[in-house]
Amino acid sequence: MYWQREIECMDRETLELLQLERLQATLNRVVRNVPLYRQRFRELGIDPYDIQRLEDIRHLPFTTKDDVRQNYPYGMFAVPLRDVVRMHTSSGFTGTPTVVGYTAGDLRRWADLAARMLTAAGVTQDDVVQMACPYDLMSGAFGLHSGAERIGASVIPSALADPRRQIRIMQDYRTTALVCTPSYALHLADTLDALAANKTSLSLRFAILGSEPWTEAMREEIEERLGVAATDHYGLSEITAVAGECLERRGLHLHEDAVLAEIIDPISGAPLPLGERGELVLTTLTKEAFPLVRYRTGDLTAIDPTPCPCGRTFRRLARIPGRSDDMIIVGGVNVFPAQVAAILAEAGLGQVRHQIVLEREEHMDQAIVLLEAPESFCTDSIKKSQRLMENVRLRLRTELSVAFAVRLVEPRSLPPGAPVVDDRRSR
Ligand SMILES: [Zn+2]
Repeated sequence: MYWQREIECMDRETLELLQLERLQATLNRVVRNVPLYRQRFRELGIDPYDIQRLEDIRHLPFTTKDDVRQNYPYGMFAVPLRDVVRMHTSSGFTGTPTVVGYTAGDLRRWADLAARMLTAAGVTQDDVVQMACPYDLMSGAFGLHSGAERIGASVIPSALADPRRQIRIMQDYRTTALVCTPSYALHLADTLDALAANKTSLSLRFAILGSEPWTEAMREEIEERLGVAATDHYGLSEITAVAGECLERRGLHLHEDAVLAEIIDPISGAPLPLGERGELVLTTLTKEAFPLVRYRTGDLTAIDPTPCPCGRTFRRLARIPGRSDDMIIVGGVNVFPAQVAAILAEAGLGQVRHQIVLEREEHMDQAIVLLEAPESFCTDSIKKSQRLMENVRLRLRTELSVAFAVRLVEPRSLPPGAPVVDDRRSR
């Protein structure tokens, strides 16, 4: 049930002592070996020895994705290149590349974090694990691959197979655990339908899904159509594995012995109290080649400190609903488009096409959700459709604290590639 019980079930006091010790070691290492940190700490008059409590971390400067880009390729490495055994590079959407390096020790620890996460998700040495995700795009795939091998499971790297072949491999080799993105899992379920087959032709028990935002509604659909228990995990190539769900499926246990997590207000940068939603900031505690201090992930979540029935003591991240870059502010309230999409899906509209329009009338923000009328509205009674719309309005207002107007538009009337948010307030 546990991969490293003595770590995963560590009591809080021991854990925090371990975190502080590792934080101090990390700070000393970056000040010694990474010019960016040496210079910043000097400018701000910070000595690593001043950090005597975990809370003191809030006095340290943030590290951003731009810092990583500007120090391309090797400026952020804390070890000589001869000690680096692997590098993951990305060209990035903007074309500005980044590169992250790992020592042999980093890879060993990464595999252990992944093994921990896979064990929590139900995988054992008796499982056949099918890796149906691109290894080049998802550095996480390498971690999970090594983690599954570490457990002793049989791993099939089927990344390049097309969906029909994926299904064939699943059937022939009696795959029991599927690793891919949530949307690809649904695509495989569609392929199964197209082949006039169903889940009984498969031996799947678990799906370990991540690398993109998804909803509880998607989880239910995947679990039902593929006959699996589906768990979520989260990681970044800059950091490696960060968190993963146990089979309780109530949030992702943070690998708190490997990362120190904070939640901040994405606008002011101020730390937020435990339980509040904001931007996730991570400090690596064990990485040798590429340590990061207060790295702004741009991902929005909250930390849940309540105990988990599985017995693991590591705190849990709420499902990541969106990026802080996407955040919109309506009448002073922070809203993420992914939260709107999740509410629409959970209200029974599925992955409905929609657009959020923001306008300003007499200095007041107006928020409107344009919704392409779903097929069901043609067949359902008017009363049923009205009730659904009313429910959507109510949930948007109560869960997001914004009074969205919800307007139906003709099916296929939103142009292909239309932005999710159309902000007309500044025009
Ligand atoms: Zn748990």
